[in-house]
Amino acid sequence: MNRRRRIYEGKAKVLYEGPEPGTLIQHFKDDATAFNNKKHALIDGKGVLNNRISEYVFMRLGEIGVPTHFVKRLNMREQLIREVEIIPLEVVVRNVAAGSLSTRLGLDEGAQLPRSIIEFYYKSDKLNDPMVSEEHITAFGWATPQEIDEVMSLALRINDFLVGLFLGIGIRLVDFKVEFGRLYEQNDQMRIVLADEISPDCCRLWDVVSGDKLDKDRFRRDLGGVLEAYTEVARRLGVLTENPRPKGSGPVLVSTNGQKPE
Ligand code: UDP
Repeated sequence: MNRRRRIYEGKAKVLYEGPEPGTLIQHFKDDATAFNNKKHALIDGKGVLNNRISEYVFMRLGEIGVPTHFVKRLNMREQLIREVEIIPLEVVVRNVAAGSLSTRLGLDEGAQLPRSIIEFYYKSDKLNDPMVSEEHITAFGWATPQEIDEVMSLALRINDFLVGLFLGIGIRLVDFKVEFGRLYEQNDQMRIVLADEISPDCCRLWDVVSGDKLDKDRFRRDLGGVLEAYTEVARRLGVLTENPRPKGSGPVLVSTNGQKPE
């Protein structure tokens, strides 16, 4: 029986009280939802894959200095995170036209955008997450102008890093959604950190060669093979097994004159 206190239950995750004050346990469920919960299914094993993929991405981002809520993975479905005050915005970064942007502006899906574009949506299931501008965000006090600047700069850093990370494994990062939170530190300082998750549930990931969708659009658009696609992303990232990536499977150092280094 689970005796832990449940703090919050979302569509794909549950948050439990953590072992120490200021910590939480983030549990990944197998539930898949789309169109604001109108479509729902259980995809056996999705939570395990998303836990792994998100852990990997958050750790890599942490290594390049992006502050995140992630502490460590606890087991197949759970990770220990720092408790933050979530900023009620879904921050979407786009590199290629797809989904709601294509519909709204009549752009062909797959068209490269002239530059990366950031959009904000107000987190409200009741209102269907409406798109909002910086004017709305500051007027209604969801975030200050300084916080918006910080969120935008972090979002672009995350995008630059992830575009390269995914391209290295033959995947085009079309767009993704991230959430940020306020982390209150002991000295009363506050930092904006990356929160929630980064997984195929909240990214569009297209195979570079075939164009195949390796993300939640397989569920939204009834394309089938959802678990297979998520598994493929995890496999290419090298996070499918308990063991670390085998030696020699990563990038190989080559010298500039084309000779193999000694
Ligand atoms: N997204 C998300 N949660 C949402 C809405 C969007 O994770 O509630 C992600 C989605 O997976 C995609 C990106 O944000 O990678 C942009 O989504 P879009 O606005 O095109 O909406 P959609 O077409 O998915 O409704």
